[in-house]
Amino acid sequence: MHTHDERLTRMVLTAMHDRLAMDPVPLDRPGDVAALTAALSGLITAEGADPHHVMSLWSDVLAPHVMSSDAANFLAFIPAAPTKAALLFDMLVSGSSIQGISALEAAGAIAAENQVLRFLADLAGLPQGAGGVFVSGGSAGNLSALTVARDVGRHRRGIGRGSLTRIAVSDQAHSSIHNALSILDMEALLVPTEDHRLTGPALARALDADPDPASVVAVVATAGTTNAGIIDELGTITEVTRARQLWLHVDGAYGGGGLLAPSVRPQYAGLEHADSFIVDPHKWLFAPYDCAALLYREPRLAKAVHTQDASYLDVIHAEGDEWNPSDLAYHLTRRARGLPLWFSLAVNGTDAYARAVEASIELAAWTARHIAAQPHLRLLREPTLGVVLFERLGWEPADYDRWSSELLEEQVALVTSTKWEGRTVGRLAFLHPRTPHALVEEILARMA
Ligand SMILES: *Cc1c(COP(=O)(O)O)cnc(C)c1O
Repeated sequence: MHTHDERLTRMVLTAMHDRLAMDPVPLDRPGDVAALTAALSGLITAEGADPHHVMSLWSDVLAPHVMSSDAANFLAFIPAAPTKAALLFDMLVSGSSIQGISALEAAGAIAAENQVLRFLADLAGLPQGAGGVFVSGGSAGNLSALTVARDVGRHRRGIGRGSLTRIAVSDQAHSSIHNALSILDMEALLVPTEDHRLTGPALARALDADPDPASVVAVVATAGTTNAGIIDELGTITEVTRARQLWLHVDGAYGGGGLLAPSVRPQYAGLEHADSFIVDPHKWLFAPYDCAALLYREPRLAKAVHTQDASYLDVIHAEGDEWNPSDLAYHLTRRARGLPLWFSLAVNGTDAYARAVEASIELAAWTARHIAAQPHLRLLREPTLGVVLFERLGWEPADYDRWSSELLEEQVALVTSTKWEGRTVGRLAFLHPRTPHALVEEILARMA
């Protein structure tokens, strides 16, 4: 099984070719995991099965029940839309068994990943010394960054391990932030938002009103909330974090891609003062799963917190000043998952990325105007990025459910409702640059 098998290679590459050539990519359907498990019964045997049989189980039985988040009519959650170049290069990364831990093992891969991280740091306005690593997702990025924020903050404040350590977050922060706080044994100082947006004055008021502000070591701001695409008021937040020596972490897992769009770039002003920042290329930077970029203003702080000490690792730290991606987050072995983005950025050029990001911002703005013009619909908020929230007057939650399941049943689109100010409302998340206007019209017409 370690010998090159020409037929097996052709079979898989042909399947890959067919998937890449699909136009449009089919949305596909939810499935019943128990029934699918039963269909696979007995497949793994001591002798092995015919590869064609296993492949057809995948293509005919399993794959139709894996929804394609890269379909142009997948408009729920946060969709994906990896470029063809990124998908192809991802396959090569897999075929190359790159161990992305250290400069010793993977200098070539690290140089390429660092080139992309530098590109992202420049977009964010971070200084020359900034740097970071690609991790599996926004959750992993947030956890790794907040670990550094905690340890640096405790050190600065003389807070001992086990003593109350808190992080100020808005009531709109992503669920992964609360998970990270729980893992790190930290608590949240919950800052109320004005119009769902964290601002510097609200942060300052919360800190001033708090009986123990010294236990707050960091602030998490969101650059593009997942539910509504709202960017916190980074400019005024940084005035507070800088005046009070608070670590500023900016979660741009979804919205960070907007940095590429000249039409919204000014809304990120202040990001250049972040101590740590994440953006998920597997969302709005058109990379395949799983890929999050984690950047630190001062990577040496992350290195001090995350470097794993094991005697078998001494050799990768021999020179003291080396750059090992594994030292900058809570992992050791890592896939060089920044490479597909690197290849695609280099091949397609940054203008193509800017146009693709602008396309969903424009579609969201167009949709908002379309909604505003319909008497039975109500726009809940002018969209900032690619997410539109709206309401069908008179509808109950069950109406949204029916609308959503009919659209999926007929394979028109995947659209789900969300909660907004306690109510069930409609939500459209645009990310694929080729989602047609006519599709949006059809989805909304079905609410008439
Ligand atoms: C998606 C998202 C996350 C989590 O990222 P994963 O890649 O799913 O782990 C965190 N924060 C925000 C704002 C997000 O949109």
